[in-house]
Amino acid sequence: MRNAQLNDVEVGTAPLERYEPLLEDGLWFEFERTMSAFAKQLRGRVVWNVSSTAHGGGVAEVLSSLLPYDRGAGIDSRWVVIEAEPAFFDVTKKLHTLLHGVAVDGSAITDEEGKLYEQTLAANARALLEMIKPADVVLLHDPQTAGLAPALAERGCKVIWRCHIGADGPSDMVRSAWNFLRGYVTTAQALVFSRRRYVWEGLEPSRVHIIPPSIDAFTTKNRELDTDTVTGLLRAGGILQGSNGHAEFMLSDGARAHVSRRAEGLPEGGLPMDTKIVLQVSRWDRLKDPVGVMDAFVQHVAPDTDAHLILAGPAPTSVADDPEQPQILRELSEKHSRLPEPIRKRVHIAQLPMEDEEENSALVNAMQRRADIVVQKSLAEGFGLTVAEAMWKGRPLVASRVGGIEDQVENGRSGLLIDDPRDLDAFGHAVVGLLRDERQAKSLGAAARQRIARHFLAPRHLLQQAGLIRELLEKDS
Ligand code: UDP
Repeated sequence: MRNAQLNDVEVGTAPLERYEPLLEDGLWFEFERTMSAFAKQLRGRVVWNVSSTAHGGGVAEVLSSLLPYDRGAGIDSRWVVIEAEPAFFDVTKKLHTLLHGVAVDGSAITDEEGKLYEQTLAANARALLEMIKPADVVLLHDPQTAGLAPALAERGCKVIWRCHIGADGPSDMVRSAWNFLRGYVTTAQALVFSRRRYVWEGLEPSRVHIIPPSIDAFTTKNRELDTDTVTGLLRAGGILQGSNGHAEFMLSDGARAHVSRRAEGLPEGGLPMDTKIVLQVSRWDRLKDPVGVMDAFVQHVAPDTDAHLILAGPAPTSVADDPEQPQILRELSEKHSRLPEPIRKRVHIAQLPMEDEEENSALVNAMQRRADIVVQKSLAEGFGLTVAEAMWKGRPLVASRVGGIEDQVENGRSGLLIDDPRDLDAFGHAVVGLLRDERQAKSLGAAARQRIARHFLAPRHLLQQAGLIRELLEKDS
């Protein structure tokens, strides 16, 4: 069998100093000192990150924002993406929903699926072993890469398996996915979960670490934009009406770029400038419940307000590791086309151009900043970067109390949480309440930004990761 063709993802370099103004003195010194000591300790070693896609979804987002800081500190951090057939990603998507405890039919991985998983990762392991040295450190991300752990550990590398997803409470369904993956991941020296609750039963406690994800304040997705730039970008992207005076935005490295492609699914010419916008940004995934958001809006928000709903996500063919997205989008669009016309005109399924990642990020940034309310009505959520992104932008948020969303939002202070993610009524009422109460919306937004600044920005994440790797290396010395 041939070796897989791994895809090297190009990673830039970012200076740590950017964060100095955002961190309290003590934390800034700790950050600078630790990263510099870490870089020295790693000299001669590579830190490899292995994932299943370079585009779309939270893992790609976190890697593309963290790795440039590692490199800026002098660490040779690299990122490779595995190669696999769509059938492999059908299996890993099933694992993903099983681990979240919400698989549609709940059935375990079959022997045939297990064989495909193992063969695909064996071909990728052979390719990786040609590049990786025993002294290197390898971070494997999510179930798609877990099966690489035994071969890399055998080579002598320090292997860390990082699981970004989990269930709020284990069930037989969840345990079946754990049992499928357990033999692979327990060969890793460390197992990292985003939340304590996601830690599997029966793991050796000394190998388990908790590191929540983070966002980077300086990426195109999150950097500050003034109101004129927001308006200009949204006009250029076909989201708001008007001629596009300022379609220009700044990239993370200071260079300038333009929005030149338009989102699909909005009315010709865009929405009127003064439209009240309720926004959810997500991949087209059942767990993000786009149909539920639409139903809740149609039944409980549209009748009492003049707001519009934008469900924004990637143009569907762009996300290679998730074959289900085009189908979800089709189902949603069909349901949308059957809505009565006056309401249909207030619900928009925006498919954002993905040809240029920075352009997509600039549009997401501008949409999140322009939204009157951001929602994330997920049925399950590993962490929910979109929540952190909206909170950092000071947006009032209504979200389901699931997964990592619960760690980010203090209900009633930095956002509103809905206990039952399927309760359309409660969700709709919370949105209507916030649309009517500007003061509460503002105060939630301000507290949300502070919450992210304190707990969910890149330096905290980089420090925790450095601490873990240093600990693993010190065990040997
Ligand atoms: N995202 C994006 N463009 C889109 C849809 C999503 O850039 O059209 C980004 C979103 O801003 C966030 C990430 O994809 O950074 C999704 O991460 P999250 O943790 O919310 O969910 P996941 O997709 O990992 O389940």
